[in-house]
Amino acid sequence: MAITGECFCGEIRYRIEGKLRDARSCHCSRCRKVFSAQASAYAEVEPGQFHWEAGEELLTRYVGQQGFGLQFCSRCGSTLCGTFNGQVHGVTLGCVNGDPDIEIGMHIYVGSKAKWERMPEGVVQFEEGPPSSSE
Ligand SMILES: [Zn+2]
Ligand SMILES: [Zn+2]
Repeated sequence: MAITGECFCGEIRYRIEGKLRDARSCHCSRCRKVFSAQASAYAEVEPGQFHWEAGEELLTRYVGQQGFGLQFCSRCGSTLCGTFNGQVHGVTLGCVNGDPDIEIGMHIYVGSKAKWERMPEGVVQFEEGPPSSSE
């Protein structure tokens, strides 16, 4: 079954014909701002498997460093997806409907988490990025 997602106001909807991968939560100060939350909750998607179903014309975008960007609903402000060089790269887990059959596998940059956040016991966490991506 396809994975679906939508923004808070419901005007923008998408469908993914495939699986999400590499679900993670980043606690760095930038992700806190981007997600307006204690951390990001994000998973990657195969670009060819992602389709906008409704409301694509309401999307607005922010392009950040090195080709990475984000797309938001211009009505309600939900952050729906991340982009890389203009293509959808992943989705924010908060906008996914139901059970996408994936769990957050790791919490990264916990070393720079907000002072007010308390990490749950037992989660896989790293002070910085995941070991494979660091020197
Ligand atoms: Zn919306
Ligand atoms: Zn981050």
